Amino acid sequence: MQSFLSHISQLFLQSSCQSCQRASSEFFCPFCQAQLHTGIRSPLIEPPSTLHPLPLFAWATYDTSLRQIIRQLKYKKQPAIGTWLGTEMAKSWINAKLHQKFPQLLVVPIPMHKSKQQQRGYNQAELISRSFARQIGYRHQPNAIIRIRQTQPQSELGLDDRAKNLESAFSLAPNFKTNQPILLLDDIFTTGATLRTVIKLLENHNIPVWGSAVTTRGDSGTIPKTPKNILILKK
Ligand SMILES: [Zn+2]
Repeated sequence: MQSFLSHISQLFLQSSCQSCQRASSEFFCPFCQAQLHTGIRSPLIEPPSTLHPLPLFAWATYDTSLRQIIRQLKYKKQPAIGTWLGTEMAKSWINAKLHQKFPQLLVVPIPMHKSKQQQRGYNQAELISRSFARQIGYRHQPNAIIRIRQTQPQSELGLDDRAKNLESAFSLAPNFKTNQPILLLDDIFTTGATLRTVIKLLENHNIPVWGSAVTTRGDSGTIPKTPKNILILKK
């Protein structure tokens, strides 16, 4: 009886919106889909700045719907959301004819540490990058960079240790080499410190980097003024 009931409740769960839990036969209800699509940013590509030294593709604004679905993707074991996001980002990329302007990019997701990925079951950045690349027809290389060390939360560290904490966290996969410009993909841009670290790593190995793509900027596009960000900006 119990298993029958849980089966029935599963059916109900599957017919609700993955973001707001309203009843919906689709993955996201029409309300959430409309809200996500009105949040698509224009222009899609930001020029280089102090926080991101290369072009940055930031797909949508960090509003309630996107915040909610990213939380579902990261903490509620909903990998299909990653695939959905990658596909939607690719549609915007294609609509803006960026695939014609930049036909040769190699898509590389920001890796997760192995143990954290095992815990979560997937790397959300890789799910997004895989469907993004597939939809556009770009090559996808999920194992180009390795997260060799689990980083401590930045807030637990003293100022001097924060930049070092990230710098030693990544390495290039043995034998990885390419002449194709890389498009790094991460789920969300907050301080930009991770992307800056990985860009520096690739450039130190003479690997060309075009820029980065993220679902959204969690910092709303403003330059944070907290001491930790000022410190990370120093080269
Ligand atoms: Zn909804």
